[in-house]
Amino acid sequence: MAKNKPLALDTLSLRSLKQKEFQMFYSRDDRDKLKNENVHLSAYYDMYFALREQQDSYKESIEIPTVNEEAIKQQIFEGKPLLGNCAIDLTSLPILFMDLFNVYVRYTKMKSDDAITAIEELKPDLVAVLEEFLFQKGVTQMQSLQADLIPAEILVFLIKNTLTPLVEKYSEYIGSSIDLDSWENGCCPVCGHLPGLAELRKTPSGRQRFLFCSLCHTPWPFQRLKCPYCDNVEDKETEYISFPDEENYRVDVCNSCKTYIKTVLNNNAGLSPVLLDWSSQNVDDSAIQKGYKRAASM
Ligand SMILES: [Zn+2]
Ligand SMILES: [Zn+2]
Repeated sequence: MAKNKPLALDTLSLRSLKQKEFQMFYSRDDRDKLKNENVHLSAYYDMYFALREQQDSYKESIEIPTVNEEAIKQQIFEGKPLLGNCAIDLTSLPILFMDLFNVYVRYTKMKSDDAITAIEELKPDLVAVLEEFLFQKGVTQMQSLQADLIPAEILVFLIKNTLTPLVEKYSEYIGSSIDLDSWENGCCPVCGHLPGLAELRKTPSGRQRFLFCSLCHTPWPFQRLKCPYCDNVEDKETEYISFPDEENYRVDVCNSCKTYIKTVLNNNAGLSPVLLDWSSQNVDDSAIQKGYKRAASM
């Protein structure tokens, strides 16, 4: 695989950036400050912190099998995401799924008893549904199970949030063995899922573009002018939309595949990738109004 020359940061500094991402911890004071500064989003923030609490306590209980660093290096070098052929035990996840669903019901004030019963009925098939989603095998299981009473976006939201702590743990554990400099794909080097958010970070050598995985939240460096979804690199095809009253975000669009990726320009509040995404729905609305579609959200 050819080396990606425009990437100026060395592997060591990429690793430290990556570790920082996962150490994002919000104290009670941090939470109050965030909510006071964004009163209109405080209900979202409350739900995020409640979900995170469940996810973090599950994450502590996960034990990751020993990894072979050489095999990891080889797999990354060949451009294959690490979890593609891994045997991962998902049998403990349905309990977390239900815990997260209860949080969701509480914070969204979901009243539908039918939906709650329908979710309960999914339980026996949840492991298969989670596996299908994690390994991107299509949506056969989910479609056949999905009752009309559970909107697809709620089901996907719950499935993603259930898988996230597990894949995050893998990412943290094997992250130090990954040379992100040799990864130049638009999908995540750890789990293979699509990026849901981008960030242009200030570095001594200029702005460096990072993509965030929509499932495990791993950040990886990526070419500035390339579309991560269709690999289109023509300058004239890749554009962005900026907003006069929004200095923290812009939208990078691809006129070849008609998708967009939301890009963070300033993360002054130190928000996690999920909170960055949830805090900027207005930006998505504008991009969608202009005829672009979103490939993945956080
Ligand atoms: Zn990932
Ligand atoms: Zn594209």
